[in-house]
Amino acid sequence: MALRLFNTLSRQVEPFIPFDPAGGPVGMYCCGPTVYDFGHIGNFRTFVFGDLVRRYLEFRGYPVTHVMNITDVEDKIIRRVGETGLTLAEYTGKFETAFWEDGKALNLLPPHHRPRATEHLAEIVELIGRLLERGVAYQASDRSVYFSVEKYRGCGRRYGVLKSLDFANMRPGERVAADEYDKESVTDFALWKARVPADGAVFWPSPWGEGRPGWHIECSAMSMKYLGPSFDLHLGGEDLVFPHHEDEIAQSEGAGLQEPGRPFVKYWLHGAHLLVEGKKMSKSLGNFFTLRDLLAKGFTGREIRHLLLTAHYREPFNFTLDGLQGARTALARIDECVGKLRAAAGTAKADPEPGLIARFTAALDDDLNLSAAWAEVFDWVREINRRLAEGRFESGAAAAALATWERLDTVLGLGQVGEVSAPAEVVALMEARQAARQAKEWRQADALRDQLKSLGWGVEDTAQGPKVKRI
Ligand SMILES: [Zn+2]
Repeated sequence: MALRLFNTLSRQVEPFIPFDPAGGPVGMYCCGPTVYDFGHIGNFRTFVFGDLVRRYLEFRGYPVTHVMNITDVEDKIIRRVGETGLTLAEYTGKFETAFWEDGKALNLLPPHHRPRATEHLAEIVELIGRLLERGVAYQASDRSVYFSVEKYRGCGRRYGVLKSLDFANMRPGERVAADEYDKESVTDFALWKARVPADGAVFWPSPWGEGRPGWHIECSAMSMKYLGPSFDLHLGGEDLVFPHHEDEIAQSEGAGLQEPGRPFVKYWLHGAHLLVEGKKMSKSLGNFFTLRDLLAKGFTGREIRHLLLTAHYREPFNFTLDGLQGARTALARIDECVGKLRAAAGTAKADPEPGLIARFTAALDDDLNLSAAWAEVFDWVREINRRLAEGRFESGAAAAALATWERLDTVLGLGQVGEVSAPAEVVALMEARQAARQAKEWRQADALRDQLKSLGWGVEDTAQGPKVKRI
């Protein structure tokens, strides 16, 4: 059976057939973070979903080129930069570093390309230029450049392919300058925003005057640069369907770079939203958690990843602290079982058991049906535990069972218990501090401790030596 995925374009589950019949890399673009703050657990549900898609494609034998952009210029960022007095790079750099650290804690595979919008101004300006040349964009009296929905439709193109839109109330030429706008409004949207005093030092030159790019055009320019004008998969949270992804399609296909008959993207995949303790996350309700908040409560990235991977990606998911406790228990069962298998296997090596691998694959081939896949995994754990209790495991059989788990874990990405998730930079600082302490350079040691603290890590001096932990 082939892998089948729900495509937002067709609103149905379809067999996954990549563009390249010769088996070249599958192109996969995931809209990355807007680095204006620490990522919250709702953001990370989407990124864990993207990681699952990437890992499962690789498990199924598809090589993948995975691109995730960093939105480091956008309305919210500009506002925060203005409030803090920092430069754009100083402000966004901190949150971008934090994002990759958080990704590491969740064992997200690093994308092959991680383009920043501010480093792709030339591509963005070129793409806007092309849209102007083709008559589907115009410079308005406010000096900003807008995409014309009316002109685009006039070329026989459809606007509203991902979401049905009501054109009855459309007022041609009505414009919106904001990056995020009303989910129901059908208006011309900004490609290039003319410089205004509130932008401070954040602006670039362009043929249309100084200004900055709109959010939607950033993703069109960067995805096509790294994956070509037509690629296989585009992923994001369901909140990005409209306007962000609809606008990406309009801009990318409006530029007419695709071969005749080929779309910008073949499969659009969207992850459902997340509730926390049964409600929409909000700071005022006290149910707003960044990943760091949860790590500070003593949960591990592994437990959080496990919980996020229990639900089907298209189902809204209720994330709770009780659920995290449940994830801890479930992982402990797996860890105990794997630990015993490891002891029973000793140095023996064996191939995975094909039966479980086939059932796991059948479950995930069905639009990534994780609950069915987990049911297979836990039935298997129960069976293994029974056989272990009866002492019915020879080293070869234990090695085969272990190899099976390791193969499944290339998709689940849960790793092993106790794996250190501190980034290399943190470990290096901890070691430098330890060296300073041994040399009795107390001031230096304290300075290094402060540096670790500023990165969100504390040091504990234990009998076995210093240990770092999240603060
Ligand atoms: Zn995007």
